[in-house]
Amino acid sequence: MTNQEQKIIDRFGRVHDYLRISLTERCNLRCTYCMPEEGIPLRDKAEFMSTEELISIAKVFVKLGVKKIRLTGGEPLVKKGFENLIRKLAELPVEIALTTNAILIDKYIDVLKEANVKKINVSLDSLKSDVFNAISRRKYFGKIMENIDLLILNEFHIKINVVLIKGTNENEIVDFLEWANTKNTHIQFIEFMPFDGNNWNLEQNVSFKEIMKAISYYYGIENILKIEDAKNDTARNYKIINSTATFGIISSVTNPFCSTCNRIRLTADGKIKNCLFSQTETDLLTSFRKGEEIEELILNSIHSKYKERGGLEEFSNDSVKKNKNRSMTVIGG
Ligand code: SAM
Ligand code: SF4
Repeated sequence: MTNQEQKIIDRFGRVHDYLRISLTERCNLRCTYCMPEEGIPLRDKAEFMSTEELISIAKVFVKLGVKKIRLTGGEPLVKKGFENLIRKLAELPVEIALTTNAILIDKYIDVLKEANVKKINVSLDSLKSDVFNAISRRKYFGKIMENIDLLILNEFHIKINVVLIKGTNENEIVDFLEWANTKNTHIQFIEFMPFDGNNWNLEQNVSFKEIMKAISYYYGIENILKIEDAKNDTARNYKIINSTATFGIISSVTNPFCSTCNRIRLTADGKIKNCLFSQTETDLLTSFRKGEEIEELILNSIHSKYKERGGLEEFSNDSVKKNKNRSMTVIGG
């Protein structure tokens, strides 16, 4: 087999060509569903991949057939040396995308353009500054809204990620769609997922069905059109007639779409997670530092991937308590 033909395939025939790299566990927000108020414990810098290590490890994934890399975190834009890192990544033959809270977008917009980054997902959980600031435990609402406009002005292809939580922002579903119509953009409603320390419970989740119910109640079910999902999309996507807004729903809790999953996650400390919910990790960085080949480790990790949700049959308050999984900010969302 030549290098060009190499593929990372699991037991269910899913080809994995999409790598999400967490650049850092740190963040300039403290979203209640993601991070503890005090942040995450600081660890020695040596425990994390350096820029050079990250690029070398990314090259191995590219050699194994990875076509797209999304940078995430924590907040990827707080990573020291981000500019240098993205310039080097841009030299690889892959599409680069970013998921960010947008606070630092104005600082990096030029370098993102130079690196040919086109797709940016921005997290924004409320259109009301007081609610947003309460969820994120910081006061950056105005800055984020300005930076969303800046991204639109500069013709980035953006999606807005909204994690819906009962009693917090579930009454803003339609507001988001009306706002998206004025911005000609796409909203991704995300079900609230369980991770270590995020006080998840099923009762707070706003389900796929509930989201659709709220939207069809307002617009009329006949005005919601299913649109084609991208090949490996984990969202189900729709459009509203007579509106420029489109939306998707990521329902990992009530209705996971694992059958087309092509994702591999690499944590900032150099470990692979073959699923967001997997309880095991494969340490690439330690082997890489010893000068060992890491290709086999990557292939084996993906080969052992479960069919659905890291082997967790269902999300109930009980099953989740028993499930050990590092927080989203550590894994890289
Ligand atoms: N800091 C960046 C951001 O917020 O966009 C990137 C990292 S963040 C962990 C990536 C995505 O994961 C965000 O859209 C965030 O809303 C989502 N996320 C974090 N915790 C989540 C949870 N418990 N359930 C569902 N989505 C979550
Ligand atoms: Fe930070 Fe993103 Fe987590 Fe919010 S969701 S605390 S912005 S990593």
